[in-house]
Amino acid sequence: MAETAKWAVENGLRLVGDYFRKLYENWTFEKLRREFIYSKEDDGAYWRKDGTGPYCGTCLDVDHRVTLPVGGATRGVYSCPLHDTTHWMRGTREGPTTMYLRRP
Ligand SMILES: [Zn+2]
Repeated sequence: MAETAKWAVENGLRLVGDYFRKLYENWTFEKLRREFIYSKEDDGAYWRKDGTGPYCGTCLDVDHRVTLPVGGATRGVYSCPLHDTTHWMRGTREGPTTMYLRRP
């Protein structure tokens, strides 16, 4: 009986600990997230409010970390080194390469 009570208390403490840790993680992420502006026009990339970026949306949304995408050979196109995702900045989609690809 004593063992069961001990187990119940320990298990309860663990659950409360997990709950508060999650709460803290969400809070720190929300705090971080508020420093960024989501840009649908820039292929779902994020910009920091101070104008730096673009930042990978997957890094921020899924991994809760900040990664500055690496600029590619094409101007206005950035790729995330971790997710292998490519972000086309606004305007770049209408470039000569895309126009060529759109031809029937
Ligand atoms: Zn990423």
